[in-house]
Amino acid sequence: MQIFRTVHELRQWSRADRCQAGNSIGFVPTMGALHAGHASLIRAAGTDCSKVAVSIFVNPTQFGPSEDYARYPRTFEADCALAEAEGAHVVFAPGVEEMYPAGAATLVEVEGLSERLDGQSRPGHFRGVATVVAKLLIAAEPDRAYFGQKDAAQVAVLRRMVAGLRLATEIVVCPIVREPDGLALSSRNIYLGPGERAQALTLSRAVRGTEALVATGERRSDALIGAARKVFAAEPAVRVDYIELVDWATLGPVEIAAPGTLFAVAAWVGATRLIDNTILG
Ligand code: AMP
Repeated sequence: MQIFRTVHELRQWSRADRCQAGNSIGFVPTMGALHAGHASLIRAAGTDCSKVAVSIFVNPTQFGPSEDYARYPRTFEADCALAEAEGAHVVFAPGVEEMYPAGAATLVEVEGLSERLDGQSRPGHFRGVATVVAKLLIAAEPDRAYFGQKDAAQVAVLRRMVAGLRLATEIVVCPIVREPDGLALSSRNIYLGPGERAQALTLSRAVRGTEALVATGERRSDALIGAARKVFAAEPAVRVDYIELVDWATLGPVEIAAPGTLFAVAAWVGATRLIDNTILG
């Protein structure tokens, strides 16, 4: 496995590789602190594509001033070992100056979506995400890029960005990988103390509860959101950020859930903000 630090190296590799007939490149953007959720994306890319590149970059522009950029877990050696074991051919790990060189003043804003869900409580977050992913896709020119449904609003923003910028990359979305007890894997789970780890299960409980209610035929937004609120009310230590039922493409609220509707929650467990969701059947 090769490790690249510059856009130039990544672009050269990608171009040389795609010159060979039949080759395709899968790209997995991450912020490192890799876990089994990231591993599932790398494996999916390896199944679909002949070469796989994984980026590891803690992107400063998607963190708010009071967020956890400085203390975000950085585990580069272990990340490279995991990426290699899962079959990655390249790790792209640029420094901040490589992605944001002096004078960089170009931002990507997906208007209408970037203020919804996480964008509402994290102003500027999706602009940072869209900007860095646009840079990464322009650098790597992959055939496919792999993202987790875990960050479902991010997927909506990036799908709209790729369509709007007419990028030649197909977005592939992979299922949420969970702990056996239901907690969605997240690099931020390591922040949770033992008591908080148990409280964090409220998110997946609310998601599972909504799925069960929909299975009984309930489709009204107010009923589904109301039931989820009750699940959170039973764990007062967990502070709800949002509980939303939205169209997955527009992130706009829907009154009646339909197949493909996104039910998403975000909540604070102590100082840690967690998210979870389900795409309703
Ligand atoms: P991150 O490193 O948190 O920026 O995540 C990088 C990619 O991994 C994103 O596309 C995430 O949606 C995805 N991801 C994170 N956690 C999970 C999970 N539990 N299951 C599946 N994909 C995940």
